[in-house]
Amino acid sequence: MAEVLVLAEHTADGEVKKVTLELLTAARRLGSPSVVWTGPGGEAAAGRLGEYGAEKVYVADSGDFAGYVVAPAAELLASLVADKAPTAVLVAGTTEGKEIAGRLAVKTGSGVLTDAVNVTAGDDGAPLAEQPNFGGSITVHSTVRTGTPIIAVRPNAVSPEASPGAAAVEAVSFGASDAAKGATVTERVVAEKGARPELTEAQIVVSGGRGTGSEDGFKIIEKLADALGAAVGASRAVTDAGWYPHAFQVGQTGKTVSPQLYMAVGISGAIQHRAGMQTSKTIIAINKDPEAPIFEIADFGVVGDLFTVVPQLLDEIARHKGV
Ligand SMILES: Cc1cc2nc3c(=O)[nH]c(=O)nc-3n(C[C@H](O)[C@H](O)[C@H](O)COP(=O)(O)OP(=O)(O)OC[C@H]3O[C@@H](n4cnc5c(N)ncnc54)[C@H](O)[C@@H]3O)c2cc1C
Repeated sequence: MAEVLVLAEHTADGEVKKVTLELLTAARRLGSPSVVWTGPGGEAAAGRLGEYGAEKVYVADSGDFAGYVVAPAAELLASLVADKAPTAVLVAGTTEGKEIAGRLAVKTGSGVLTDAVNVTAGDDGAPLAEQPNFGGSITVHSTVRTGTPIIAVRPNAVSPEASPGAAAVEAVSFGASDAAKGATVTERVVAEKGARPELTEAQIVVSGGRGTGSEDGFKIIEKLADALGAAVGASRAVTDAGWYPHAFQVGQTGKTVSPQLYMAVGISGAIQHRAGMQTSKTIIAINKDPEAPIFEIADFGVVGDLFTVVPQLLDEIARHKGV
């Protein structure tokens, strides 16, 4: 079967991120997945990658990936594309992943598809990407006709499915060119991370909007998120008002999320907000206005004052947990 390259997303200490397992699941529909691992830790991760169907792991154990932003990863992929002639290259649709995809497309003269929420083999066997457009109001199926298809797949869009096997590790020697060393990482600051899951990877996201009324009012969103083991999100009205940091904004100019459950609390459902959450598997809205547009896309809705509804919900969750 034809080889499909999957660029691994992993932490600095070599932990495989869930999105990599999602990419492997999608890649298996197109051919034999080979993971491309940047930096140290690839050998130790091969077992985990094999559990999700990776047949090979190309390990480029070079310090250049940590030292020089994204250009070295695009260079490595370009050389593997030239060498292995894969059917497709899958990367995570994260900010970094999309930048790598764009650079790789330029380097290899290939077409690139971003924000894919599903990847399948088309009738002619060519990779077919499903992409929500215009804030999710239309869905298009696209295929690449030039070069090697490069597809950035949205995190959480594909459910990871195990397919146990053993991945062979192949060391790849790599040194970034001077051009790829143009932008240097001068300092790394570890973001303060509480017990909550990362927004774009979370299975449950609880987002609050202007309906929370104030920075203090927004705390009820954190309470609900913690009760559900969820990540916190916010509408732009909230982040612009300074009630919650911009890093947690969901939408066109914020993060794109696709959790199993998205709760929109006191959010009207503007098109720009929908653009970042419309592909969530189940959407629950709590809003006091029965005409709020969020109800058009909600699977379940509660019309009511969030400061009445959410405390009742918290009581019910506590009762279920027996606390
Ligand atoms: C170029 C551009 C990019 C943008 N990008 C983004 C983006 O990335 N993300 C984003 O979110 N927005 C974005 N916006 C802004 C977007 O258009 C909306 O203004 C914003 O999403 C509104 O946020 P909101 O729903 O919290 O507030 P509102 O639209 O004011 O809605 C508040 C909702 O809360 C309800 N409510 C009020 N009080 C209560 C209560 N006590 N209980 C229950 N419900 C209550 C109201 O009925 C209302 O529906 C963008 C806009 C532009 C022009």
